Order: sequence, then structure tokens, then C-alpha cells
Amino acid sequence: MAKQMMLKFVSVERDMPEKRAPDLRRQDFQEIYAEYAHEKAQQQSSRCSQCGVPYCQSHCPLHNNIPDWLKLTAEGRLQEAYEVSQATNTFPEICGRICPQDRLCEGNCVIEQSGHGTVTIGSIEKYITDTAWEMGWVKPIKPSEDRPESVGIIGAGPGGLAAADALRRQGVQVTVYDRYDRAGGLLTYGIPGFKLEKDVVMARVAQLEESGVEFVLNCNVGEDISFEAIRGKHDAVLIATGVYKSRGLQAPGVGAQGIVRAIDYLTCSNKVSFGDEVEEYDSGELNAAGKRVVVIGGGDTAMDCVRTAIRQGAESVKCLYRRDRANMPGSQREVANAEEEGVEFVWLTAPKGFSGETVEGVMIQKMRLGAPDASGRRSPEVIEGADYLEEADLVVMALGFEPEDLPKLWGVDGLEVTRWGTVKADFRTHATNLDGVYAVGDIVRGASLVVWAIRDGREAAESILDYLNAPAQVAAE
Ligand SMILES: Cc1cc2nc3c(=O)[nH]c(=O)nc-3n(C[C@H](O)[C@H](O)[C@H](O)COP(=O)(O)OP(=O)(O)OC[C@H]3O[C@@H](n4cnc5c(N)ncnc54)[C@H](O)[C@@H]3O)c2cc1C
Ligand code: SF4
Repeated sequence: MAKQMMLKFVSVERDMPEKRAPDLRRQDFQEIYAEYAHEKAQQQSSRCSQCGVPYCQSHCPLHNNIPDWLKLTAEGRLQEAYEVSQATNTFPEICGRICPQDRLCEGNCVIEQSGHGTVTIGSIEKYITDTAWEMGWVKPIKPSEDRPESVGIIGAGPGGLAAADALRRQGVQVTVYDRYDRAGGLLTYGIPGFKLEKDVVMARVAQLEESGVEFVLNCNVGEDISFEAIRGKHDAVLIATGVYKSRGLQAPGVGAQGIVRAIDYLTCSNKVSFGDEVEEYDSGELNAAGKRVVVIGGGDTAMDCVRTAIRQGAESVKCLYRRDRANMPGSQREVANAEEEGVEFVWLTAPKGFSGETVEGVMIQKMRLGAPDASGRRSPEVIEGADYLEEADLVVMALGFEPEDLPKLWGVDGLEVTRWGTVKADFRTHATNLDGVYAVGDIVRGASLVVWAIRDGREAAESILDYLNAPAQVAAE
């Protein structure tokens, strides 16, 4: 009973770092909120029918033992629920916040499929681990024995960090190299803070640092240090560099000022939310305040851009997408959120060109959906003579990402890549064609999801351990 009461009054400081003053009203709010969150989690967890055919689990890329941690939560045994949850997921509080659950666990909940609304698995996963942080159950890693071998990880996104965590647990020395000034990859500088609070990510980075993982930041591999130098320093190397080449558009006027790439726009906004001074934000170049904003694209990155622009105080925000609502790649939940916040979606439209040296407008051509292409998807076709000008002061291009040319950038012709430029790696072991070099996450899959990068990172760590444990065999080959 005492434990129950304690759990009811968990603080929510971490969710609201900007207001840490311990005033009475805030304390009341915290207690009420924590009690509400606890009751909600318990009530939702008890809705799980323990169906015995856990499609939720099989549709979670990490095969999280969802029914068990739901049962434990329903019984108020939160610490045990946390232990079960973290056994398969390195960052459950992150996945709970940003997995597209409607396409994964929740979309396959049998209660959802019988028409009664899914158990809110993601929110409960977040609640369990947020509580674990608050209660001090999340601890730095203390391996039972330190090993002499070291692994160099290039890229501090979820793929690299999940591998770092798993390797450190086995006592391996781990160094993570990243070209940004903060670790976290797209968790830190891509995904906006209103979806994933930055202190949640930074807490994980701090936990890894306290666990002995070394971070070498502001280090662009290929420029500040060569790939071969990293290989020479470590017993094995993991490439987890993500995909950062923005897809472009060939259209008249595309080079005008005020037409920016989504990654630059979101990185800038995230830096500002850390309290950094960013020149492009202060100058207005990457700041939507008071502007008529047009975002081009229909994926989740476009949704993050439109919702960021609204929060920056844009005068208006329009999103152009060449297909219709039913055929857009982004999550329908995100579209609904954006619409609620005031974003206007202009379906079946594509940019034809841009006017002004500093952008003044987008020439828009109207589209209709034609016959299905080879993939079965109906291709957009131009409706002739229906063009019009949409006035704009800021245009954000969110047309997707491609891999950078790593063999060229790093001067390693021997590293095999696919015809799309992604690194070729065994889908089970994550080994590349180079001895002792592994690769995970978006740089192998193409733009994907955080949960898949975590899974890859965990699996690659296991393969790397096998590799480190069998050096004689490797030398004899
Ligand atoms: C705007 C946006 C929103 C998204 N929202 C979601 C979401 O809501 N849910 C979800 O599941 N997924 C989302 N994703 C996708 C998800 O973020 C990625 O799939 C995931 O981060 C991939 O992890 P990663 O570790 O492979 O790479 P990344 O997270 O991209 O990390 C790669 C790291 O490598 C570093 N790096 C690259 N090259 C070098 C180099 N040469 N030297 C040193 N360091 C280097 C980069 O600086 C970066 O820190 C989103 C993506 C974007 C762009
Ligand atoms: S990791 Fe993602 S898919 Fe798996 S249970 Fe959590 S929210 Fe669902």
C-alpha cells in the first residue's frame, strides 16, 4: 500500500524542465497530474484481455513483452513492469512517445480490431519508464567485468546508442563519434521537442556517459578523423550515420532565398529550444514567425515542419502534397493533429516553380490521381491549365532523405553499398563486407523508424561480441 501511494505522487518535473520553482500550486498540480496519470495507466492496462495471441508483441519490432508489463501495471507492480519493459527495449520512454503505434503494436491490438479501441500501449510504456526515472530505478550500467576490447561507433543516433548500451553492459570499451555538438542524432536535432522532450534524450546520453561510454562530439568522420584511423583504433567499428542528403526539386526559382531544407529548419528550431543562439533563427532565415509558410511534402518530416511553424507563430501554414489524404505517407494521426493546430493541407498539388529572388510565392500545379503504377499506387498526373500562385515568405522542402556517399566521403572504395547508396549489411548480423565493420539503422534501411534502429543496434552488439570473442578464428581465415 505504501508503495502504491508513493507511485501515485511521482513528480513530473522532467516533463516540464522550464518551471522548476517548487511553489505550492505547482506541487498540487504535480500530485493531481501524477495521480491521474497513474490511474489512467492502471485503468488502460487492465483493459488488456491477455488474449494469448499477442499480435501487439509480434508487430512490435522489439517484440516487447507487452501483455506481461500491462498485467504488472494493472496490478500496480510498476518496478517489475519496468524491468520487463527495459529487458527488450533500450529506450522505452522514447518509443512510447514517438513510435507510430497505430501502425505497430496498437494497430494490432485485438481489442482495437474488435472495434473497442486499442489499449494505449505506447502511453503506458512511456509512463512506466518515466516513473522508473523518477523513482531512481534507471541506473548507470555497471558491467561485472571490464573487457580490454574497444568498439568505435560512428553516429550517436538511436542505432549507435542502443549498440553502445548493449556493448557496455558486457564490459566492452565504447567510443561514440558524432559530427554534431550533442548526441542523440535525429532524436535530438530532427524530431521536435513537442513530440519528444529533449531532456528525455539528454538523460539517456548522461546515463551512457556515467556508464563509461566516451563521446567524441563535433567530430565529422571523413573530415576530422579518417574512417581508417577509427578502424585502426578499435577492435570493431559500427557505422550508424543515418541518412542526411535531402531530396531536392528541379524547378525554376528553386535557389531563391527563403526556400530551405526541412533538416536545416528542424535542426535550427531544436537548437533554439536548447537555448543555443542560432544566427539563422535570429536573422529570420529559419524562423517562421509572422510568415506565410508553405511546406512541400506529405511525410512525417513535413508534419513536424508544419507543426513547428505553427509554434513559431507563422501567419499561415500550408502543406502541399501531390496525392490525396488517403495516399499520403505520413501518419493520419499527425495530419489530424496538424489540422487541429491550424495547418491547411492542399491535397493534389505540386510546385512548378518559385517567384522572387527572395521567395514571394510558389507556382502550383493541380494534380489528379491516374492509373496505378507498378507498385499498385495511383500516380499523380498534372491537370493542364489549372496552375495558380500561392504567396509565401518561407518555403520548407520536406521531400525525404537519401544516404550520403560514404565510400566517397570517407575514401573507402571497399565498403559495399546498394544501388540506393545505403550500406550493404547482413540483415541478421549487420556485418558489412569489411572485416570487423558493422552497420545499422537508417544508413542500412534508408529513412526508417527509431524502433528499428534500436533493434538493429542491439542485434549488431550481439554480433560484435561474437566477433570479439572469436579473434583467433578470424585471424586464421
Ligand atoms: C524530422 C524527422 C522526424 C522523425 N520522426 C520520427 C518519429 O516520430 N518516430 C520514429 O520512429 N522515427 C522518426 N523519424 C525517423 C528516425 O528519427 C530515424 O529512423 C532514426 O533516428 C534513425 O536512427 P539512426 O541511429 O540510424 O540515425 P540518426 O538518428 O540519423 O543518427 C545518425 C547520427 O550519425 C551522425 N553522423 C552522420 N554522419 C557522420 C559522420 N560522417 N561523422 C560523425 N557522425 C556522423 C549524425 O550527426 C547523427 O547524430 C523521424 C525522422 C525525421 C527526419
Ligand atoms: S517499442 Fe514501439 S511498437 Fe514496440 S511496444 Fe513500444 S510503442 Fe509499441
